[in-house]
Amino acid sequence: MPTLMKSHYIGELTKKEKGKAVTLCGWVNSRRDHGGLIFIDLRDSTGIVQVVFDKSSKLKNQVYKLASSLRPEWVIQVKGKIETRPESMVNPKLATGEIEVKAEKLNILSKSKTLPFEIDKDGYEVKEDLRLKYRYLDLRRKRMSRNIKIRHQVKNFTRDFLAKKGFIEIDTPILSKSTPEGARDFLVPSRHHPEKFYALPQSPQQYKQLLMVAGVEKYFQFGHCFRDEDLRADRVLEFDQWDIEMSFVEQEDILNLTEELVTGIVEKVIKKKIQEKPFPRLTYQEAMTKYKTDDPDLRKDKKNPNILAFVWITDFPMFEKKEDGTLGAAHHPFTAPYDEDIYLLDKPEKLLEIRAKQYDLVLNSHEVFGGSIRNHDPKILVKVFQALGYSKQEVRKRFGHLLSAFEYGVPPHGGIAGGFARFLMASLGEKNIREVIPFPTTRKGTTSVMDAPSKVDPKQLKELHIKIDRGRK
Ligand code: ASP
Repeated sequence: MPTLMKSHYIGELTKKEKGKAVTLCGWVNSRRDHGGLIFIDLRDSTGIVQVVFDKSSKLKNQVYKLASSLRPEWVIQVKGKIETRPESMVNPKLATGEIEVKAEKLNILSKSKTLPFEIDKDGYEVKEDLRLKYRYLDLRRKRMSRNIKIRHQVKNFTRDFLAKKGFIEIDTPILSKSTPEGARDFLVPSRHHPEKFYALPQSPQQYKQLLMVAGVEKYFQFGHCFRDEDLRADRVLEFDQWDIEMSFVEQEDILNLTEELVTGIVEKVIKKKIQEKPFPRLTYQEAMTKYKTDDPDLRKDKKNPNILAFVWITDFPMFEKKEDGTLGAAHHPFTAPYDEDIYLLDKPEKLLEIRAKQYDLVLNSHEVFGGSIRNHDPKILVKVFQALGYSKQEVRKRFGHLLSAFEYGVPPHGGIAGGFARFLMASLGEKNIREVIPFPTTRKGTTSVMDAPSKVDPKQLKELHIKIDRGRK
């Protein structure tokens, strides 16, 4: 679709446009000067095309001069005619390699300084900090622009797939209350309620369960999650999840739905092969006995980047011992224990033997999806919280809203969530999660380009009733 400034996007140009007058806008990808002939590779968001400024043609001298001043990454508008290239000049590496634009007019829209790094390579050779400081330039490189387009295509595919199955997309709040997913919360101080804080969601878990109580039987969203985790090279503090919840389902329903979605994404969007279909399944015990891990890599040939090996892991333990020796939920406390193991909730010494209706999907050793059938019985839910060490009062204070919601006709329900970036990283064969997130947090926990967290105005702190304690260690 043209705009008032350009008649075509470069990706739309083919031999069929031969002889047509076009107006293109974009960036100078490169300039080659052949004495009397200047070749510009012009790039826009859809592709690259060669533009020729020919001194010997009717081209005004002034335009030719202007063309010789062009430098990489300047932004220009070019008017010209589409011509087919002679057979010997066809460039098979370029989608528009059979044509070129014979320039007639040139308009320089903005100039560019020399970039801090080259963008015509894949970028792995540049320091990550520098790439993230200038992320808007880093995203110009072909690989990164492909990665963000694939994100979009995967989201589109998902929306289309789930909408056809009757799911509706519902956004849930970002300013919220803590929901336990095993990490620290990011807190937001309240100006209107001194000494009180919102928590940013670690996942939309409780809201999606409340939506089941609300009578929404099939929910999904791309949930935005925030987890204040310890910093590691492969972690980001903020990420997207496919978030899905359904009522009146059993484990098999969720596994089948997810498997169909994932298969479609891999085969139709990512265009890679799946090693084994239907996805093989292992219980947690089988995985631990055979592979000594609950995210095994089942690839037969680990060198082949075009084959993806999925495996479902099921029957996780409900509880696990945390590093500090206390008991934690292996997934989260909202997961249902196996019906036949529920009686063990009353036997403190047997808690680690309780199995949960929890499942993970593992792709080439990365846990990409995880979910569970939920515990919708408020009495058993309270027992789980107590097993985790919450007092009755704490349970009321932190989860009272969910427990009371469950007193008004709650359907049995279950769901799953998938780490969007982790899935893209594993399926595209990228080594680092930041390669598939447009503006990721850095490995130091700061944001790309804008370098948050940053100091704020003392006036803002005062309004928030906050005093900084500089005596801290
Ligand atoms: N909320 C869970 C998570 O973020 C997923 C789920 O149980 O649906 O891992």
